[in-house]
Amino acid sequence: MSMPSDSHFEVIVIGAGVAGIYQIKRLADLGVHATVLEAAPDLGGTWYNNRYPGARFDSESYTYGYSFSKEVLEEWHWLEKYSPQPENLKYLNFVAEKFDLRRHMQFNCRVEAAHFDEANVQWRLTVSDGRRLSCRFLIMAVGLLSMPTLPRLEGMARFKGRSFHTFDWPHEPVDLRGKRVAVIGTGATGIQVIGEIQDKVGDLTIFQRRPNWSAPLNNSRISPEDMAAIRARYDEIFATCARTPGGFEHEPDRRGFNEVSREERLALWDQLYDEPGFGIWLRNFREIFTDEDANQEISDYIADRIRRRVKDPAVAEKLIPRDHGFGVQRVPLETNYFEAYNRDNVHLVDLGETPLVRVTETGLETTERAFDFDVIVYATGFDAITGAYDRIDIRGVGGEELRDAWRDNPSTYLGIFIHGFPNLLMPNGPQSGSASTNYPRGIEVGVDWCTAFLEHMWANGLIRAEASKEAEAEWTAHVRMMYARMLMRKAKSWFTGYNSNVAGHEEGTIRYFVYNGGMPKYVTTINACAANGYEGVTLEGPTLGAPPGAGGEARLTG
Ligand code: NAP
Repeated sequence: MSMPSDSHFEVIVIGAGVAGIYQIKRLADLGVHATVLEAAPDLGGTWYNNRYPGARFDSESYTYGYSFSKEVLEEWHWLEKYSPQPENLKYLNFVAEKFDLRRHMQFNCRVEAAHFDEANVQWRLTVSDGRRLSCRFLIMAVGLLSMPTLPRLEGMARFKGRSFHTFDWPHEPVDLRGKRVAVIGTGATGIQVIGEIQDKVGDLTIFQRRPNWSAPLNNSRISPEDMAAIRARYDEIFATCARTPGGFEHEPDRRGFNEVSREERLALWDQLYDEPGFGIWLRNFREIFTDEDANQEISDYIADRIRRRVKDPAVAEKLIPRDHGFGVQRVPLETNYFEAYNRDNVHLVDLGETPLVRVTETGLETTERAFDFDVIVYATGFDAITGAYDRIDIRGVGGEELRDAWRDNPSTYLGIFIHGFPNLLMPNGPQSGSASTNYPRGIEVGVDWCTAFLEHMWANGLIRAEASKEAEAEWTAHVRMMYARMLMRKAKSWFTGYNSNVAGHEEGTIRYFVYNGGMPKYVTTINACAANGYEGVTLEGPTLGAPPGAGGEARLTG
């Protein structure tokens, strides 16, 4: 066996976020010579970067943590039902330190290029620090929402105050007291920021292009007694998450929408709206996602709840979405968001009526007037799902560029493999079930599956794996077909690839980004693939002059 090298690895994992941390844990346990390359200065991914005020889970904390270690489950105490960013980052560090994972991670290493070397059956990577690394297998743990996007507005560099995207919120505290603050964007992020800073700033102006449906988070503390009760229930909690479509404890109401009376529906919604978390979205009738009439009825209900919370009826009407129904986009959860608009220091600018024109030295200008600010917060979202892949020059067999292959739409086999890009694995790739579920629940499935796949390769002396064109075409067609049933396909959101700030992703073309058949069906499908000898994936042993470490032998650390 050859000695482990600093430049060649059996496996390179790109990204040290929630997925990369667990992936390297699995590989380290197997003794595989592997490393994680992370662009940021430290681990944590989403929870390292998104430090904006109000950033927190809207999954129940105890369903978001990893389930793989009984010890971690025993030792970690979640303090809030929906844990805030600093605590979440602490948690990921706790896990990494407990299993001594940092020694397998390299930070400040942005992967700029990854080219498949067919002759040697390995990936060759160029890293931002100038190094060239290689590996047999490349695992993409690059995150779904890791490429923030700014508006394409004239004059952005001219602004003399402070401005940042929420993803790049400064690490040192930002003093907003007495400041005139603008927030652009009212997605899940903007809604969290606004709820948190409304009473801490001098003046807050919210620039809303399209309103978003949202519902109360209803957060609370978790006492030591509560936590003990949660610990006693962990097996049950994860079992429930595994059988629900979204990977939560929230189970859909399986009664038919029209099987119950309107009074019963209203009573259910009254209850769910005031309960913590995604209940109003995910414990609801399944028809709200597929049936226009059912969706209209729940949308009317939520609109009424908004009207009850916002004192100025004209403002309330502006906060009610008209272009899409409740739940067909990812529903942000909020704390005092609607009440913010009842404050004298909070102002709403409807960009639908008066679009932004430019950024000036002192603030923002719409078609109607100029505004002066001390701070501009861009809560303007992400080049979702494929954005992180597009930023790396990934070339497969024959030099084919992934960003070209995916220009109009991603195409994958099971969201895990890409034809033409052998030995590249995506534990939570585009078109996977893991991309549309309670994130860590999906990640553990994806990482476990990919790890078992690699063990199969190593155990059988195999060195090359590539999804067949036919298998990929079939899966991609299936993913598209699943959109046909869902009202989601009509919404302009990151789930359908819409982003006005990215050339080519403006409205018009839907992108089939996620498998929306639910996690249980997804797990059944990928497990059947494995049980059938990884049907759809061509597996090969060493045929050519085998490179060092080939021959099916994983290069193990000493
Ligand atoms: P988002 O949902 O894509 O929202 C972006 C917002 O910015 C939208 O209101 C959008 O308006 C607006 N916008 C974008 N470009 C603009 C422009 N050029 N001019 C004016 N407005 C513009 O992004 P996000 O809020 O960051 O959330 C993304 C996802 O991150 C969420 O759906 C969620 O999955 C995740 N997230 C999770 C949590 C959590 O778990 N707790 C918290 C935050 C985010 P339009 O609607 O008109 O495009």
